Amino acid sequence: MIYLRIDIHCHIFSEQNTTKFIDKIFQGFTGYGFYKQIKSELKKVPSVEADSMFEKTLAHIKNAGLNKVVLLPLSLRENLLVKEWSELEPNIFIPFLNPPEKKSYNQNLYKYFSDQIESIEYRGFKITNSFRKKKLNDPILKNVFKVAQDYNLPILMHTGYPPPGTKKNVLSYSNPFKIEEFALQFPEVNIIIAHMGYPWVDIALSLAVQYQNVYLDISNLTYMMPNRLKEFLLRAKELIGLDKILFGSDGFIPEMIEMTVNLFEGVDFLRKEEKSKILGENSGELLNII
Ligand SMILES: [Zn+2]
Repeated sequence: MIYLRIDIHCHIFSEQNTTKFIDKIFQGFTGYGFYKQIKSELKKVPSVEADSMFEKTLAHIKNAGLNKVVLLPLSLRENLLVKEWSELEPNIFIPFLNPPEKKSYNQNLYKYFSDQIESIEYRGFKITNSFRKKKLNDPILKNVFKVAQDYNLPILMHTGYPPPGTKKNVLSYSNPFKIEEFALQFPEVNIIIAHMGYPWVDIALSLAVQYQNVYLDISNLTYMMPNRLKEFLLRAKELIGLDKILFGSDGFIPEMIEMTVNLFEGVDFLRKEEKSKILGENSGELLNII
């Protein structure tokens, strides 16, 4: 069987997401290791010139050798962009839905979600409620879990640290430990803990040991902390094996999709078959596309 190569954690890019944009958002971080790592790795990835950001992103996805990319919206507005991109290239993009996460949307949420899922065929949910001062066991998420259960959809939750420079106290709300309630209550809903829950990797791994429906993505760790990633993956392998570990890019510009795939493929501490599991086989099974 030929397995697909899948990125399960990619965001939508707008025209402003260029290499200059990286310098701009990380002004003041020039001495930081992650910034140096991104800058030096990006030198190895030639920027594709294209007519639109959509075309450019597709070109970098192709260069990375990826077959499928899950698009994760961060707001209601981005839900529509994700829908647009996925309709333009349905063979590659897999749309997830960011549900309303504020109390003010609390009318008939179940109906809202099921209507969205049925009309657009979103294939999962992306939860970013820790950016909105809500913990990962917030009651507003209960309806999302109900829909996910009824429609057999995974839920990818932002956990752990936010991107550097985020001016919000996200860490106060994003300890993956809080996921336990939902993991237990909805055993049929597969939950993906983003960024392996860093800095709570041990908690994330403990949840994955305890609950069959808990998965971990390695998004952004390839460029934020490649040395710790080695330790995290070897620890995961020792404890739960590698079947529940999923590759994600989580870049700021399309070039970073290619960059993160290159970084992951270059690791010397996993066998080729182990890398293929993480870089697609596991996500393919989870998303029912193998
Ligand atoms: Zn992300």
